[in-house]
Amino acid sequence: MGQYKKFKGTQDIFGEESKYWYFIEKKSREIFLKYGFKEIKTPIIEPTELFKRSVGESTDIVQKEMYTFEDKGGRSVTLRPEGTASVVRAYVENSMINLGSPIKLYYIGPMFRYEKPQAGRLRQFHQIGIEIFGTDTPISDAETIILADELLKSLGLKNYKIKINSIGCKKCRPKYREALKEYYKTLLPNLCHDCQKRYETNIMRLLDCKIDREYAKKAPIIIDHLCDDCKTHFNKVINYLDSMEIKYEIDPKIVRGLDYYSKTAFEIEHTGLGAQSVILGGGRYNSLVEEIGGKETPAIGFGMGIERIILALKKENVEIDNPEKIDVYIAYSGENTDIEALKLSKMLKNEGLKVFLNLSERSIRNQMKHANKVNAHFVAIIGENELKTDTVTIKNMTTGEQFEVEKFWVPQILKEKSLLE
Ligand SMILES: [Zn+2]
Ligand SMILES: [Zn+2]
Repeated sequence: MGQYKKFKGTQDIFGEESKYWYFIEKKSREIFLKYGFKEIKTPIIEPTELFKRSVGESTDIVQKEMYTFEDKGGRSVTLRPEGTASVVRAYVENSMINLGSPIKLYYIGPMFRYEKPQAGRLRQFHQIGIEIFGTDTPISDAETIILADELLKSLGLKNYKIKINSIGCKKCRPKYREALKEYYKTLLPNLCHDCQKRYETNIMRLLDCKIDREYAKKAPIIIDHLCDDCKTHFNKVINYLDSMEIKYEIDPKIVRGLDYYSKTAFEIEHTGLGAQSVILGGGRYNSLVEEIGGKETPAIGFGMGIERIILALKKENVEIDNPEKIDVYIAYSGENTDIEALKLSKMLKNEGLKVFLNLSERSIRNQMKHANKVNAHFVAIIGENELKTDTVTIKNMTTGEQFEVEKFWVPQILKEKSLLE
């Protein structure tokens, strides 16, 4: 049991759970590479100011959810609550603009938010995301959404919906905000406490409030307030998606929580997940790079929550291979059998088999028990007899079949057998 417990909203990931992580990370990397993305790893700690500036002072994240502390040098440090701000910071700090535009980056890693933990919402959660810097073309928005769709499909998911909206730009959004303020003015006393505050600070969030959903239904929609530039952009994106036969819905309530988005915003919802149903979200953010000190650079990206994807995979009963399966356990007993065991282990690994070499001083009987616990498919046994005759005894742990083979043939026989079963 132990004296120490992990914090609420964090988890230890191991055993059968691990296969989902291998699978999701592997598939994501494959697809990102196919689309010409390169990986970026940024620090988990960043200056607090970065998130205040980028995510926005008025957002729930900055107001109440960040893990912020002072380090021994008196700096205000924050565990990153999302991935985009750090990637943008890195883009500016490393002058990646010189690497040619657009540049395509992806990241995989933990994020931290102090929220009330529930299914699909953890305090340490993990995201996989992409960012494209240096292009404002509708085709880059379309490719981002096409990639997201291809990724989810390749994971084996079917029950999801792509929802798109345009949230306008610096030119047209102020007018839309005014229209919203006008609409909500008389309703204000009826709204929830949070929305009453957001009315002044972040009025568009009133549209995605879960409590005040009824009022949002009749609210003016942003598509009707877009400037010509935003309207043309949105129509082109839609047109590309139609040409590629991507299924989507236009949803005026997609506003995204963060201040830095502009134009295209999208979310992908899984239909089986209840309250925390958004498995992927993203959009265009054309002013963020400039906001944190870079040259004006348009950008677009998305983030996908690994924990929620796992819930979705389980919900849809997607079968996933476990890469941690042990093909062969090597058991040995008697003088000099340990050296033979090391050599056999090397031979088998060279053939691509997954090998668990016994590392403890114990009887063959107890080694067999251990082989069973680690779910080894085969056990290769080297005793004094086998050592003399240059053979190995193989036991198939699934069928119970046991036979002796000349050592030379062991790798080939095991490889064939483990492929067959
Ligand atoms: Zn606009
Ligand atoms: Zn509300």
